Amino acid sequence: MNTPWASVDYDIIDIVDSVIARTIAPEAETIDATGTFPSVAISELADAGLGVLQMHKSLGGAGASTSTYAEALLRISAACGATSTVYMTQMHAAHPIHLQGSQEQSERWVPRLCKATAIGSIALTEPGAGSDVSSMRTVARRDGDSYIVNGEKTFISNGDRADVIVLFATVDTALGKSGITAFLLDTATLDGFVPGAPMKKLGQKGASTVTLSFQDCRIPVSARMGEEGDGYPLLLRSVVRSRISAAAQGVGFAQGAFDVVVSWANARDLLSSKTTHAQDLQFELARLRGDITAARAMLLSVSDQVDASAEEPVAEVSLVKMHCTTLGTTVAARCVELLGPDGDLVSLGAERLLRDAKVAEIYDGTNQVQSMLVARDIRLAATSATADA
Ligand SMILES: Cc1cc2nc3c(=O)[nH]c(=O)nc-3n(C[C@H](O)[C@H](O)[C@H](O)COP(=O)(O)OP(=O)(O)OC[C@H]3O[C@@H](n4cnc5c(N)ncnc54)[C@H](O)[C@@H]3O)c2cc1C
Repeated sequence: MNTPWASVDYDIIDIVDSVIARTIAPEAETIDATGTFPSVAISELADAGLGVLQMHKSLGGAGASTSTYAEALLRISAACGATSTVYMTQMHAAHPIHLQGSQEQSERWVPRLCKATAIGSIALTEPGAGSDVSSMRTVARRDGDSYIVNGEKTFISNGDRADVIVLFATVDTALGKSGITAFLLDTATLDGFVPGAPMKKLGQKGASTVTLSFQDCRIPVSARMGEEGDGYPLLLRSVVRSRISAAAQGVGFAQGAFDVVVSWANARDLLSSKTTHAQDLQFELARLRGDITAARAMLLSVSDQVDASAEEPVAEVSLVKMHCTTLGTTVAARCVELLGPDGDLVSLGAERLLRDAKVAEIYDGTNQVQSMLVARDIRLAATSATADA
């Protein structure tokens, strides 16, 4: 986990590690058992200047590289999946506000998200639209100086806790993607907005996931981010960042489960023993370490591409999201097996990491959808190679 990567700021990572050791790791089992929202850890990360790492320092961020963010999130995920999801959602909300919000919107909300004095949320998915955003049915209808919003969002992280929500809605369902428009909602001022109760889930139990219902919810025109129809390109840029987050979580879940097995094996002298059983375990750990190291290098390399390219490296991000989140589940499952019956014990934490890992394959665009994006990129590259020949 400590192999240096040129673009990662290890001074920041040292601070992340200290918050993990002090608060995040010791609270992880309780957060999972009780479904407690990890407010304390989120505040501690923000108090340490780590609230939204990549955001400009002028807006309260740390001005860090995407690879520093990925490495930090990887480590937080290895300690506590719920905390990592709440933490990354703060960034997922701040990033589109920074990209497309007015100066007033940015200056009002981004510093508060960085300080964690506000909780943020990003609301895209609907009961019938997520993978296929052109089917979006939450409508924002213009009415004088206002929009009236009607519809339902679902599976929204932090939604019931949010002070500010980046909402994607359509101004006209007939327009498909061209009607998608982004709005910035101050939840303290909303009438006709009802968050649902936190859903009961397989893992990441402290990270709240809810429906958001809008019934004739009137919002001022000044809540719009950009122009009508500007939402779809913003959404595409936003999901690139959130897919890096999911990928970092995948590597983190794998690393966390691997670390559990190493400590467990070390305590039983299985790392030095020459018995056949112990050596099988040692060889398996060597193989898993190779898989995790390769995935981490891929994650950090694609993170560097995100910072270096003017255009989002969509296919590379899909590839890393798909690869790393699949790794998270398969390595965590293998680690649970390697522990034998102890793998089933809550006190060791490997079973929690396995439960936390599965959903990262599903959110931020399922891995089937990522496969489609990568397949399209392969087809485009092949077609252009044929045209050039
Ligand atoms: C814990 C959690 C937190 C979440 N947080 C947020 C959040 O904060 N904000 C937000 O907006 N959303 C959030 N989501 C929603 C999540 O991003 C979506 O559920 C996910 O991207 C899948 O989209 P969908 O719901 O439209 O699923 P569907 O598209 O309905 O997927 C159903 C199945 O169909 C498959 N499928 C879909 N299209 C195709 C296709 N063309 N070809 C082949 N297979 C296909 C999928 O792979 C999947 O297996 C969250 C979800 C979860 C579970």
